Amino acid sequence: MENRIVAGKTIRQWMRELPLLENMIRTEEVFWPNPNICSFDQATRHLPLGERDVKEAEERLARFAPYIAKAFPETRDSGGIIESPLIKIPKMQRYLEEMSGQPIEGEVWLKCDSHLPISGSIKARGGIYEVLKHAEDLALANGLISIEDDYAVFADEEFRKFFSRYSLVVGSTGNLGLSIGIIGARLGFHVTVHMSADAKQWKKDLLRSKGVTVVEHLTDYNKVVEEARRQSAEDPASYFIDDENSIHLFLGYAVAALRLKQQLEDKNIIVDEDHPLFVYLPCGVGGGPGGVTFGLKLVYGDHVHCFFAEPTHSPCMLLGLMTGEHDRVSVQEFGIDNRTEADGLAVGRPSRLVGKMLEHVISGVYTVDDSTLYRLLAAMIDTEEIRLEPSALAGVAGPVRLCQDQAARMYLEQHHLTEKMNKATHICWATGGSMVPKDVMDAYYQEGKRRQG
Ligand SMILES: *Cc1c(COP(=O)(O)O)cnc(C)c1O
Repeated sequence: MENRIVAGKTIRQWMRELPLLENMIRTEEVFWPNPNICSFDQATRHLPLGERDVKEAEERLARFAPYIAKAFPETRDSGGIIESPLIKIPKMQRYLEEMSGQPIEGEVWLKCDSHLPISGSIKARGGIYEVLKHAEDLALANGLISIEDDYAVFADEEFRKFFSRYSLVVGSTGNLGLSIGIIGARLGFHVTVHMSADAKQWKKDLLRSKGVTVVEHLTDYNKVVEEARRQSAEDPASYFIDDENSIHLFLGYAVAALRLKQQLEDKNIIVDEDHPLFVYLPCGVGGGPGGVTFGLKLVYGDHVHCFFAEPTHSPCMLLGLMTGEHDRVSVQEFGIDNRTEADGLAVGRPSRLVGKMLEHVISGVYTVDDSTLYRLLAAMIDTEEIRLEPSALAGVAGPVRLCQDQAARMYLEQHHLTEKMNKATHICWATGGSMVPKDVMDAYYQEGKRRQG
């Protein structure tokens, strides 16, 4: 094993250069402060994307709001804007403090993307955005609309008939498939979702009930995406949603930051030099947390600190960042099995697009054990009555880890944050859960109680 060559070096050499790797290979929980972080201005000077692009994405979503409100009545109250609440979770904060014996300075909040309308996960941002973008491109190119029109017409039969000439293809561990499938089928597209072996049965059932073609694979996420990409390329009427490389997905996620800024202002929460903001984002391939991070950095610059959270068995982004090899390395090549109950995070190879864009921007990455995810899942129900899927709890471990882990405390010291922590805001990004069927959620809860002992 130690003599195996990965990206030009033996695993033994890699471990000598990166001592933390040994802990990762043993699937222990680790905290990695990013040694390559630099000021946001410096880090983004050469990036191909900027504020203008995120604004454009926000405007596009606003154009589609009349359609969304019409096609998905649950969004009528928000005027067709797909957004989630930000809520304070003091009881959960107390639980975290008691369980860890570690006081958490500052206030802990939950960003409830778990309760985003339409598809109940963070994918209702990026996934839906990219399908709308594609639908708009097709409609504009074929003279069906102009950009000043009322987009409610997208719900008309004529549009559905038009889109039925086209198809959408995506590879997914579950939630991206749900978001693409639901919005795609509603618009009239033929949608094919390729699901990885870890995808949950209820997600496949739900999609089939909406007329989506679900192809089940026995392989893991990256292989499935590869196969889906290949199949889509054979059909000129087919559009592939590329979770590993898509700028559109990324921008759809980034819009979250502009909305969060407003929510924080409405709640009189200050973010500035003396009031740091810490955000903890569950990470699979990286698009969701990456897009949100990019948006938040545009808004708050160096006053926001974004940490990615991965399962101990699937630390792909951490591996890509720490080695600097990004998608040239996978967890499996290092003998890590990519088996986790956090299905949304079960990814062995990270997005190169995200890793390269944010290698100097992400504050750090930590890993979480499945057992911890389950315990937090049950505690979140007991304390706050909020039901999340296992993946979504990865971010909830963040505030404790930041205050407790030795490496994290060094990060705080180096950035002169230690003495500001009593004025800090922590936001745990709850990435999914409201669509989980009751019997499945009950089983998760029981498992969590069992693991709490
Ligand atoms: C997809 C997903 C994530 C992570 O998003 P990536 O873009 O894969 O990094 C986190 N949590 C849940 C519940 C998800 O479905």
